[in-house]
Amino acid sequence: MSNPLRVTVWGEFRHEKKNPKVSAIYPDGMHECIAAFLRKDPALTVRTAWLDQPEHGLTDAVLAGTDVLLWWGHMAHGDVQDAIVAKVRARVLEGMGLIALHSAHYAKIFKALLGTTCSLKWREATDKERLWNVLPSHPITQGIGEYFEIPAEEMYGEPFGIPTPDELIFISWFTGGEVFRSGATWQRGHGKVFYFRPGHETYPTYHLPDVQKVISNAVHWARPMVNIPDVCPNSPALEPLPEDAEASQRSTEGHK
Ligand code: ZN
Repeated sequence: MSNPLRVTVWGEFRHEKKNPKVSAIYPDGMHECIAAFLRKDPALTVRTAWLDQPEHGLTDAVLAGTDVLLWWGHMAHGDVQDAIVAKVRARVLEGMGLIALHSAHYAKIFKALLGTTCSLKWREATDKERLWNVLPSHPITQGIGEYFEIPAEEMYGEPFGIPTPDELIFISWFTGGEVFRSGATWQRGHGKVFYFRPGHETYPTYHLPDVQKVISNAVHWARPMVNIPDVCPNSPALEPLPEDAEASQRSTEGHK
């Protein structure tokens, strides 16, 4: 819809300040690493926002000027204000795209949109992850082979407490034997939602070309098709109405 596509990359940006292992991998924060590879695409304008900014960096103006929002959260889901979550949710229902990364499976916004527990199994044990591309015709998997591998990642395992996805894009296998629905989409209102599992903060996952390709593809896929605000207007008839039209029209006044 918009040209260029307006992208906001949101991150907690707390691990990077507290854990030297994380800041060594992401000196400017994970959100800036993601923004940096997206900025190579001339079709995108990319800004970043993070938790400890006023309104978490997601002011009304920023949200109104965002076509696709990427969300990385992990340790501080509870610190995200409910009022901001409600505004983000409303924007998705209007048409904004949302890409939930890694532990955003437990973010308030993700759970609010999907309506289920979104719980899962996990293990930090440097498993290898193999992501199988189970929907090779999908826009998100273009340029991705039959599978790709991440040498070391946190394990997420089934059962994953999500509603059955509209589209299942990736299934992961881990060294420990678990599998997981690592890439999945849902339509929510007029907006598109994509969940993409990899991205634990102590591994250099967002530096990997395949991961960057998936996220870049997903940003384009999630672009808004429409922007339809949540209003409930009384509507005039398009065709001549029967004789009692005026009365029946009046009876609907004030009806919501
Ligand atoms: Zn993690």
